[in-house]
Amino acid sequence: MAPYSLLVSRLQKALGVRQYHVASVLCQRAKVAMSHFEPNEYIRYDLLEKNINIVRKRLNRPLTLSEKIVYGHLDDPANQEIERGKTYLRLRPDRVAMQDATAQMAMLQFISSGLPKVAVPSTIHCDHLIEAQLGGEKDLRRAKDINQEVYNFLATAGAKYGVGFWRPGSGIIHQIILENYAYPGVLLIGTDSHTPNGGGLGGICIGVGGADAVDVMAGIPWELKCPKVIGVKLTGSLSGWTSPKDVILKVAGILTVKGGTGAIVEYHGPGVDSISCTGMATICNMGAEIGATTSVFPYNHRMKKYLSKTGRADIANLADEFKDHLVPDSGCHYDQLIEINLSELKPHINGPFTPDLAHPVAEVGSVAEKEGWPLDIRVGLIGSCTNSSYEDMGRSAAVAKQALAHGLKCKSQFTITPGSEQIRATIERDGYAQILRDVGGIVLANACGPCIGQWDRKDIKKGEKNTIVTSYNRNFTGRNDANPETHAFVTSPEIVTALAIAGTLKFNPETDFLTGKDGKKFKLEAPDADELPRAEFDPGQDTYQHPPKDSSGQQVDVSPTSQRLQLLEPFDKWDGRDLEDLQILIKVKGKCTTDHISAAGPWLKFRGHLDNISNNLLIGAINVENGKANSVRNAVTQEFGPVPDTARYYKKHGIRWVVIGDENYGEGSSREHAALEPRHLGGRAIITKSFARIHETNLKKQGLLPLTFADPADYNKIHPVDKLTIQGLKDFAPGKPLTCIIKHPNGTQETILLNHTFNETQIEWFRAGSALNRMKELQK
Ligand code: SF4
Repeated sequence: MAPYSLLVSRLQKALGVRQYHVASVLCQRAKVAMSHFEPNEYIRYDLLEKNINIVRKRLNRPLTLSEKIVYGHLDDPANQEIERGKTYLRLRPDRVAMQDATAQMAMLQFISSGLPKVAVPSTIHCDHLIEAQLGGEKDLRRAKDINQEVYNFLATAGAKYGVGFWRPGSGIIHQIILENYAYPGVLLIGTDSHTPNGGGLGGICIGVGGADAVDVMAGIPWELKCPKVIGVKLTGSLSGWTSPKDVILKVAGILTVKGGTGAIVEYHGPGVDSISCTGMATICNMGAEIGATTSVFPYNHRMKKYLSKTGRADIANLADEFKDHLVPDSGCHYDQLIEINLSELKPHINGPFTPDLAHPVAEVGSVAEKEGWPLDIRVGLIGSCTNSSYEDMGRSAAVAKQALAHGLKCKSQFTITPGSEQIRATIERDGYAQILRDVGGIVLANACGPCIGQWDRKDIKKGEKNTIVTSYNRNFTGRNDANPETHAFVTSPEIVTALAIAGTLKFNPETDFLTGKDGKKFKLEAPDADELPRAEFDPGQDTYQHPPKDSSGQQVDVSPTSQRLQLLEPFDKWDGRDLEDLQILIKVKGKCTTDHISAAGPWLKFRGHLDNISNNLLIGAINVENGKANSVRNAVTQEFGPVPDTARYYKKHGIRWVVIGDENYGEGSSREHAALEPRHLGGRAIITKSFARIHETNLKKQGLLPLTFADPADYNKIHPVDKLTIQGLKDFAPGKPLTCIIKHPNGTQETILLNHTFNETQIEWFRAGSALNRMKELQK
């Protein structure tokens, strides 16, 4: 059986679809399924068009591509206030994707909502929890063993609530999305920061926290600050050693890690056509490193080719019909414009310790010498969601083949992480994997592995200074191997391969020679490889579980004694009274990110267990009273102790508490645990000088009161030993400040005003105890 027919027959079996032929799908131009896996969920270009027309009439100006896709998904396009960088948009995304680490809490919250099924097509992908140790199959077996209960929970919850489940070994979430679910014009949210990868197929794909995913799965409009748009005009064309990765490495060097914040990066111009679809995905993927909301490319023939090769020619045909809405209007306005001539672009390598420290490959060796960075490359790593396409593997194999022809192998260790089972099987079939093994590589599991610190590295001791080069996206301190002395550089997979062969950062494949086994000098030719396999993709092993049509008898596996998973109890409703005599758990001094509120690292394994992970509550925040982290006064015993223990003491004794914070409280990743934990341990309000917006919304969703001092100087009026009463909740209304009475231990009192940003809906969340509780009330 030919591989593609095999895939289709598997799909038919998985979906229970009879007489499901590719030809019949290809003919359905008017009604085209969003993916093979959801034959009854159709692409709504008609709705996109209708909404774009409404908005275009209102704004009366040319629109960028990202505006078309974003505004085309507005909940109320006729009345939505639209001002880039200012207003908040209410959107209706088409689908949701979750990776296994973040899906746990998202699914637990969804279960707690009481809804029977997800409202939009959604999927779970098992990729983050697989450790790289010995190589593909062994590592996969070990991961299945260690994480069995988490996988089991996700599989059974997916089956129960209508969520597709991609088993461990299926591949990395963003590759699976690109191969199966992304399409031009889609609005997709994913609980992972590199969700923007789907922009390579012309979609607006945005990384979010689990609470946002729950909203969308529950059918609630999703809020996004109207993004600004940064245009990147590409001219010329890619050639030689220069690759798509060099485009984003260059952009990162220009914009830095914060330059894209609040904006969508929109690529356009004649240079776009010289980049493959998977290459465009690489560029969008790494847009996360400049803080961009997402990145996107206009629909073109390279996307059409990719869609056709991945069995979605019907989507490409439909996109052709609606092409006007899948490219920017001419004359549209960008908030910032960057121009890059691809013909002049040179191979880049960025790092160490930050992805925006850009160097041309030709210069990195001398910079490293000057800076004292180790020149010897210990390990070269290719793959990850950023660079693991068929083309990437082909270009790396083309470099490796030349070294082998001269009797050379890699001087450095070399690992390969295929992005998906389909890529793994196809590069095995086409011989690339063997070439990469022959040159000294180890093919790891189709998973995140070393990219997310799941790397059981044996070749160095912690603290040993060393250099690695990767084709991944992030290279912050300790990201790959938890060793703060590892100098990680990011570059394209073909440059990683060339550097791993040479073993030194001083090697520039464009100009330098290697010495073959015969003692003769030779130069590596620039790699040339097919963008897509000539034959069909080999789907490899069947790793997908489609939810059953009838899931009424399906049980969700969560053991009551589990240390990693815990079903959520609904939070208590507001009792209708003002919040009196709140104890101050901690008055935080200075920066307090979501990492300070809910630390990562070893706590990751408890992401599905709210009570266990709550033992990290605010352990990184600095207490104003003693300048220490994780040391606060227990107002009853007067003893200092860890923050979580003190919160638990208060909870046990029925004492409600509040946190006092400084500026931009809750910045950082949009981790919903940072809002769930204080609520779980009895917190009622967080009062700060200002909030990071996403965290503020997350707090509201969990029924907490995020409030700000009307006069920021009032922060200084509150002492950790005071008690606070928050008044005015009976008349809680948008824009109406609340009153706070500060009761000092000496019996004196002061009254201050507290502002809030609650709207009517969010006030209902507060009254119900949480957004989920409110959702349940509405169902009744
Ligand atoms: S490969 Fe790395 S960047 Fe990509 S999803 Fe996995 S951990 Fe994230």
